Amino acid sequence: MTSYKTETKLTQIGNGFDELGAVNAPIYLSTAYRHEGIGISKGYDYIRTGNPTRSILEKAIADVEGGQEGFACSSGMSAIQLIFSLFSTGDHIIASRDLYGGTFRFFDILSKQYHLSFSYWDGESLDELTDLVCPETKAIFIETPTNPLMREVDLSEIAKITKKNDLLLIVDNTFYTPILQRPIEQGADIVVHSATKYLSGHNDVLAGLVISNQIKVTEKLRLYHNSCGGVLDPFDSWLVIRGLKTLALRIRQHQENARKIVAYLKEQPLVTKVLYPGKGGMVSFELTKQENVEPFLKALQLITFAESLGGVESLITYPATQTHADIPEQLRLKYGLSNSLLRLSTGIEHSDDLISDLNQAFQSLKIGVGAHE
Ligand SMILES: *Cc1c(COP(=O)(O)O)cnc(C)c1O
Repeated sequence: MTSYKTETKLTQIGNGFDELGAVNAPIYLSTAYRHEGIGISKGYDYIRTGNPTRSILEKAIADVEGGQEGFACSSGMSAIQLIFSLFSTGDHIIASRDLYGGTFRFFDILSKQYHLSFSYWDGESLDELTDLVCPETKAIFIETPTNPLMREVDLSEIAKITKKNDLLLIVDNTFYTPILQRPIEQGADIVVHSATKYLSGHNDVLAGLVISNQIKVTEKLRLYHNSCGGVLDPFDSWLVIRGLKTLALRIRQHQENARKIVAYLKEQPLVTKVLYPGKGGMVSFELTKQENVEPFLKALQLITFAESLGGVESLITYPATQTHADIPEQLRLKYGLSNSLLRLSTGIEHSDDLISDLNQAFQSLKIGVGAHE
């Protein structure tokens, strides 16, 4: 399917696979496959090693991200764990400072228990990034745009550094998805997704994906994926496939809504900062006062205060106590993740309704402030 455009590839996932002509990917629940004789197989033996529904998803994501092979995992974190099975005690990894909190927590465990060491880069100076490289460095792990401060980094510039120093460039592409960013085309070796977010897109499945584009790495990942066993089950694989079919359409609407909301928030006197990289559906903004955070969240009626992103329903998160609670407060505050920051995952509702909801919540704060004075 390589010659088709991304939208077409996504929509057609699973079509043409079934012998009976089903246009929708079949869900194969069988854990085992009959062999006609010793060493004879139709490509599947045991569900952990390979499953036809999961294979459809893995092939599709590898194709769309432009990589060699895809691996579907039971969560985004298990996808990141799969990648980290490539490293051993003593290895050094450089990672984005402004990172998903769960990834930071996992790295903390790896450093304490498995003696991997980590340096964090603030995403600003490439010279500083180069200075962090030492003989033990094995990889650079980047989240772009960063989370939740929404800063973009130039992947092709970082790829020059990883290529020169023989390092792996690993990119968490959860926020932009292959619709807005294809890291492998910019020189990344491995792409990882929390497919729980935009790829599945309906706030109803936990899944992760790894896409590798380096033969040595691909073989190891295949071995570890089967050996460690954090694989995605057939039904959840099917749910991700179903989500992917509308990804391009959804991202367009998420982005259109986000841009309108950004324009609205920039005019809002109770907002001091709006962080938006110009693309995608994620918007972070800072309220004038930390005391306003809770009343604001409580006043929202349409936008749900909940901890996730990338689904059709708009969700708002308070990173300080939710997604980024595992990052020490001192560190968070130092790099700009303040206690007044909110992160909005713009859904695909009508933008007028989303803006009205934000507006009535801001109005209620103004009334609330007035009543106390
Ligand atoms: C949610 C998330 C993860 C972790 O994925 P799970 O599916 O929750 O395990 C990793 N990276 C980013 C950017 C995320 O948003």
